[in-house]
This record gives sequence, C-alpha cells and structure tokens, in this order.
Amino acid sequence: MRTIEGRGEHVVVIGAGLAGLSAALHLAGRGRAVTVVERQPWPGGRAGRLDIDGYRIDTGPTVLTMPDIIDEAFAAVGQSRSGRLELLPLDPAYRAMFADGSALDVHTDAERMATAIEEFAGSGQAAGYRRLREWLTRLYRIEFDGFIAANFDSPLSLLTPQLARLAAIGGFRKWDRMVKRHLSDPRLQRVFTFQSLYAGVAPRNALAVYAVIAYMDTIAGVFFPRGGVRALPDALAKAAADAGVRFCYDATVTGLDRAGGRVSAVRTDRLDPIACDAVVLTTELPQTYELLGRTPHRPVRLRPAPSAVVAHLGCRRVASDTAHHTILFGESWDQTFTDIIRDGRLMRDPSLLVTRPTASDPALAPNGRDLLYVLAPAPNLARGRIDWDGATARYVDELIGDVAARLLPGLPDDATILDVVTPADWARQGMAAGSPFALAHTFGQTGPFRPANMVRGVDNAVLAGSSTVPGVGVPTTLISGRLAADRITGPDAGRANRMATHHDMGAGLT
Ligand SMILES: Cc1cc2nc3c(=O)[nH]c(=O)nc-3n(C[C@H](O)[C@H](O)[C@H](O)COP(=O)(O)OP(=O)(O)OC[C@H]3O[C@@H](n4cnc5c(N)ncnc54)[C@H](O)[C@@H]3O)c2cc1C
Repeated sequence: MRTIEGRGEHVVVIGAGLAGLSAALHLAGRGRAVTVVERQPWPGGRAGRLDIDGYRIDTGPTVLTMPDIIDEAFAAVGQSRSGRLELLPLDPAYRAMFADGSALDVHTDAERMATAIEEFAGSGQAAGYRRLREWLTRLYRIEFDGFIAANFDSPLSLLTPQLARLAAIGGFRKWDRMVKRHLSDPRLQRVFTFQSLYAGVAPRNALAVYAVIAYMDTIAGVFFPRGGVRALPDALAKAAADAGVRFCYDATVTGLDRAGGRVSAVRTDRLDPIACDAVVLTTELPQTYELLGRTPHRPVRLRPAPSAVVAHLGCRRVASDTAHHTILFGESWDQTFTDIIRDGRLMRDPSLLVTRPTASDPALAPNGRDLLYVLAPAPNLARGRIDWDGATARYVDELIGDVAARLLPGLPDDATILDVVTPADWARQGMAAGSPFALAHTFGQTGPFRPANMVRGVDNAVLAGSSTVPGVGVPTTLISGRLAADRITGPDAGRANRMATHHDMGAGLT
C-alpha cells in the first residue's frame, strides 16, 4: 500500500465531520500530533444540528448502522463507546408502508423477520427471505475487509481471490436482479433494494455489491443515539480531545502553503498559519481540488448523486406506536428513479422517509410534542431545473399532505414547519450540484475508480470523506478516516489484535 512521502508527525485535518473525526482519532491513536480545523462552531459537518423553539433537530443522517465501526474509532485511542455514547437499537428498524395500504415492520432478528414476512406474504417469501439473508451476509463478509475497508493503489489491486468470490456470488450483477432471485413479491423487493437510493443509483442500475447497504440496515440493525445523532460527533470529538487532538472551531481554511511538492502550512481566516507535516482534507471535492491547486484528469465527468428535500416539523404527540423510521413507498416506485435521476423532476408519486426521533428520545421536542423529519429524494441541480426558492413552500405543503394521507391524519392542521432544506440550500452550504450525498456510486465511481484518497503531485496530502473511497454514509465516512490515517502511517499493526480483543470481550451493540 502506498503512503505519503516523508514525515507525518503533525497532521492537520480539515473538517470535523465524521471522516475528519475518524481520521483524527486513528492518527492520534498512532502517536501523531493532530490539529482539526473546522469552520463551524461544533463537530459533525453533515451530521448537523439545529435548535429551534425547544426542538433539537438532526439535519443530516438519521439511519445509523454498523456500531462496530463507531467502536473502532473509539478503540483507536484506547477508549470504548460505553459511558460516551448510548446507542438505542431500533425495533422495528423501519416500518415499510405501501401504496396498497399494507405495511411491514423490518426486524433485525431473523426469526421475527421471517415470521413477519410469512404473515405479510406467505411462507414461500419467508423462505426466500432466509436465502436472501444468507446471501447478503456472505456478500458482506467477502466484501467488507477486501473492498469497502481497503485502500486501492490501482484498479489492478482489485484482482484478488476475493474478487473472484465476489463475482461468483453475483456481486457484479444488478442489485434488483439478485433480490428478485429470492423474492417475487414486489413490495418485499422494495424493502431490500430501496437502499440503492443511498448510493445514488436506481436498483435496476446498481451493482449488487451495494446490496451490502441492505445487509447493514436490515440485518446488522439500525440504531439511534440518545440525545440525537449529534451525540455521535460530540462523543467522537470529546474522545479525540481527551487523546490530545487540538480542535480549532470557527476557523475556515482559506489556503494551503506549499513547499515543493508538499503542503507546509494550512491558512485560515482567523488563525496564524498552522504548520504541518501532512494534511487530511475532508472538504467537498471541488473545494479540495481548489485548495490543492489541481484538477484531476478523468475520462468522464463525475456524476453527482441525486439530492433531497428535508422538512423538519413539530406536531402534537402522534400515536405512540408510530415507528421511529417509516418509509412510505409510492405506487410507481420505479418511476421515482427515472423522475429524479434521469429526468431531473420532482417525484410524481412520492416515496418518503418519515423519521420520528422523539419515538426513541422524547426529550428532543418540547413536552407533548413530536419532532418529524420528512426526507423526499429530489433531483440535484445538475439534472433538475427547479426554481427551489419559488417552489419550496408549495412542495412542502404537498409533502405534509402526503404524510397526512398515508401516515399521520391531522398533520396539516397541527404541523409547525421548523425548517426546510432544499437542493438550493445544500448548494449554498457548498455542496457540489446541490447534493448532500456527494458522488453517485456508479460502477465508474466505485472502489479504485472513485476519486482516490491520495493526490498525484502532492506528496503529503490525503483525502477522506464521502467523495473519496469508500463513499457516502456514516459507516463509510468513518472508514474513510481510517483509510486516510493508513495512508499517512501505513496500516495500523495493532488493529487486528484490538478488534479481536473487542469481539472477544463481547462488546455488544448497545
Ligand atoms: C440529509 C442527509 C441525510 C443523510 N442520511 C444518511 C443516513 O441516514 N445514513 C447514513 O449513513 N448517511 C446519511 N447521510 C450521509 C452522511 O451524513 C455523510 O456521508 C457523512 O456525514 C459525510 O461526512 P464527511 O465527514 O465526509 O463530510 P462532512 O460532514 O461534510 O464534513 C466536512 C467538514 O468540513 C468542514 N469544512 C468544509 N470546508 C471547510 C473549510 N474550508 N475550512 C474548515 N472546515 C471546512 C465542514 O464544515 C464539515 O464539518 C445523510 C446526509 C444528509 C445531508
């Protein structure tokens, strides 16, 4: 594995999002001096926060999976999650509601899920689910260490026996085809393929290797941090600070000083230049290239992922059995992808994620109130030509009407719109093409074909975050931080032992 040239004793990490926090922890744990520079007053980046009238809003990720990867970040500095972060397992992980009025709770436990599917769609589908679960588990095991959590020096480094095993189990076929082999009920097919939206690709176009996301949330489970998702970056930042990492908040990086092929110091808008031996950039790709003064040559243009509108609502406490996460599938689900990815228009028949964090932690809203987060997939600004500033108010009314008709009657009379974020807003926050989900995970933007975490021509700069390897999402960006640290120090010799001890000690999921 290639590493940076020369010393990397003092590393400056740009950005205290999940990728930057993970890089800082892994570097500090390996004895490096680390300074994190963040333009906001707090950590988290896209795992953002907003406090309005007693509502504690999470503005970014809501579906948290793979706690082991979070544990690994704490373990990097010899610490553990317990006492720092409480992760509540969600059961159901999701409630899927379909246009025909039927609903299915997605359970992590195999037996409970098989029983639920049997009641929902019959014993044949339950048997298919068991086979699919086995396939997803095998896919995950083959893929995780060799592909997701690995640095690639070139596409040739993919050519390993694992690649053949991955191909043999269908990893390079299409995701929806592999699921259809096991499940014939179209509603169930949706439950195990909708996650391709997270990868920014329609299930019919996504590689089956990405079905590993379905493993993560339907098998490994979905969790919620008490105190809201912000509790995750807060806990990681606290652990890093306790391990000696220095944080400079409210400081925007404006330039990098260069000496030959190396970055010698990081300049900000308010501090003296910070000298460094190496730098980790977790900024959005165009800004990263601007700071580094380079535009990489690629045979084809990069494709941004689709975007989303997120409406944050407060309302009177709803029925107590309303799930933490509900997915409202529209009738014409396939059309949704054509609408937002190909045609750049609003979904004609919306499919929505409705999250009620107050189902798990009522303290996130004032007494007697619930907090709702409604996410509607939407075209990015590169595809769509929507005048968001003009269209938003009406669109949000429509979304509230949809949620009322399909899940929470009475919502329109009662809802307070706390905040709305559209692709135009994501763009104003500096996100390329107005998408908070970075680059789509198409074949040409996957693994060794995704923008690499090392930069040609700059000897001591490494990238982390959602636009480089392995990609978008909480677990993946945490991994990207570790991969960046590996590029600076070389692979962490103690990791295998540490993780084995962690598993031996039976570190649980809660
Ligand atoms: C609405 C939404 C929903 C999502 N849902 C999920 C989900 O359910 N599950 C999931 O797994 N993932 C989800 N994601 C994706 C996940 O949140 C991101 O992939 C991940 O948080 C990105 O982390 P990052 O560290 O790469 O980037 P960021 O969080 O963007 O971190 C970069 C940091 O750099 C800072 N920065 C940028 N420029 C500068 C500068 N010049 N100087 C100083 N600091 C700078 C930024 O302020 C930021 O803090 C969602 C994201 C969004 C926005």
